[in-house]
Amino acid sequence: MSKVAHYLQEHLLGEVMTSADARSYFATDGSIFTMAPSLVVYPRNENDVRKTARFTWQLAERGRVIPITARGSGTDEGGAALGNGIMLVFPAHMNRIVELDPKNGIVVVEPGLNYGRLQQTLHTHERFLPPFPASYEYSTIGGAVANNAAGEKTLKYGTTRGYVKTLRVVLANGEVIETMRLSKRELNKKLGLNTFEGELYRAVDALLEENRQPLEKLDMAVTKNAAGYSLGDIKRQDGSFDLTPLFVGSQGTLGIITEITMETEMYNPTKDLFLAEFNSVENAEKTVLALRDLPYLPSAIEMVDGQLLDLVDRINPNQLKGIVTKPYPKAVLLVEFDDIDRQRKKLVKRAQKIIEEYATHHEHETDPAAQARLWKVRQASSSVLAHSEGRLKAIPVIEDGVVPPEKLSEFIAGIYDMFAAAQLQVAIWGHAGDGHLHMRPFLDLSQIGDRQKAFRLMDDYYKLVLSLGGSTSGEHGDSRLRAPYLEQVYGPEMYGIFQKIKQIFDPYGTLNPGVKVGVTLDDLKGLLRTEYTLSHLYDHMPRS
Ligand SMILES: Cc1cc2nc3c(=O)[nH]c(=O)nc-3n(C[C@H](O)[C@H](O)[C@H](O)COP(=O)(O)OP(=O)(O)OC[C@H]3O[C@@H](n4cnc5c(N)ncnc54)[C@H](O)[C@@H]3O)c2cc1C
Repeated sequence: MSKVAHYLQEHLLGEVMTSADARSYFATDGSIFTMAPSLVVYPRNENDVRKTARFTWQLAERGRVIPITARGSGTDEGGAALGNGIMLVFPAHMNRIVELDPKNGIVVVEPGLNYGRLQQTLHTHERFLPPFPASYEYSTIGGAVANNAAGEKTLKYGTTRGYVKTLRVVLANGEVIETMRLSKRELNKKLGLNTFEGELYRAVDALLEENRQPLEKLDMAVTKNAAGYSLGDIKRQDGSFDLTPLFVGSQGTLGIITEITMETEMYNPTKDLFLAEFNSVENAEKTVLALRDLPYLPSAIEMVDGQLLDLVDRINPNQLKGIVTKPYPKAVLLVEFDDIDRQRKKLVKRAQKIIEEYATHHEHETDPAAQARLWKVRQASSSVLAHSEGRLKAIPVIEDGVVPPEKLSEFIAGIYDMFAAAQLQVAIWGHAGDGHLHMRPFLDLSQIGDRQKAFRLMDDYYKLVLSLGGSTSGEHGDSRLRAPYLEQVYGPEMYGIFQKIKQIFDPYGTLNPGVKVGVTLDDLKGLLRTEYTLSHLYDHMPRS
């Protein structure tokens, strides 16, 4: 065992493991990459995290850089939950609900808490966290905050960032800070601190002031965007300042989150749901745009395309029985309203008119059991994810592009052309209301030809997304996979600002290096797995 592991074992309360089994288990996440950590730490408390960071900082000061990667459940689809240094695994011990105030809807949690468990607890208090990812049952709240996760309800409720009030964060040097919105006066106090925290506030404030003009152009035409660092809402016009939105979505590259305070929403279990079928993607797009023009947005506008229905019919023939019938439509939308007040009745009426204008067939359900049956159409995407044909697997390489909603049908047509040229089948699903679609090509990563195809697809796909004014990532983040394209999304000036942010928070490069900034496509090629599976999602926690 290495000296580093010995030192940590002696000084931490949590377990430190270097066994081949543990290292190989944490060598994969939800991505196509593999990288084994040199050791695995299961922190028991914030002090363990602090000591680990302090130790790696001291080593880095002497020229030895050991990366730290924070890890939730490792469902990241772009390789952000991988690292070759210390893997800090949160779900083992730091997984508690610390405080819950149902009256005010505030919850304080540790990052390793399973998202599904938190959601269940909130439901019992008639509350919920709306931006839950599709993976919420098997991922953590810390991973969701670090990725700024989003999902079907984001259309109406926004992303995770909007729900995080304060954070406790361990910085690269082991200092612990608490982030929250500070008044001008409180900011001045921070700016005067003779600590690393003080340095951060001074450097970020100066960077934002120096770059006011480029930062004004930061907003893109998309409705959700997880690419880059979020710099837009740190300093407001009233002079108030908050580092929280920056840490949210930073994928463990700026600091390690040890506690999260979140706001929640009232949960309404009764909803109106439409399933609408279309004979063209263009008509589905017209419906989406008209629904987006309603005075209040629906709580979800989700889509699957006809090719997904064909594929599911082939691999799981009974899954769609009695819900959609053949010949399958070109697109299906699921449109949901969850408003609690009287406005819903009016909205539903107007939505029905819009759907009747463009759809060939539709159903409207208010009964929860009947709604659950309709949702099966959207959930059929999970059959695609789990499907394999011989060694061909549905691999996540181009699964997260987002375009302005009015470009939806152009986006889909471009994707069909791209897959036809590559002679690959495609099935599309996702958050049509946000112009945000998921898809996965079937490739065999053991074949050189398919590995090259994966990179060619990425290039073609991102060219398409960017040509439509979109972003490479709607919700999964840049991770490793999309990091080489980040400069193309924002241009060299903004990319330079992102690099400076990373340098300010992580001067020695110990915090999850190889994620978000400073990554080339060549860096990725050596990390490709030869077989894609999600087998690491089986439980692997220390037991005593
Ligand atoms: C089938 C499937 C469906 C998915 N659907 C969605 C979806 O609908 N929406 C969506 O947004 N995402 C989705 N994802 C991606 C992913 O599941 C989510 O982003 C999820 O929130 C990640 O949580 P996790 O616990 O697995 O985090 P991990 O994968 O373990 O980590 C994710 C990132 O967070 C960082 N991190 C974790 N804990 C901390 C911490 N304490 N401090 C600092 N950084 C930390 C990691 O270093 C890494 O960069 C999906 C993935 C899969 C496999």
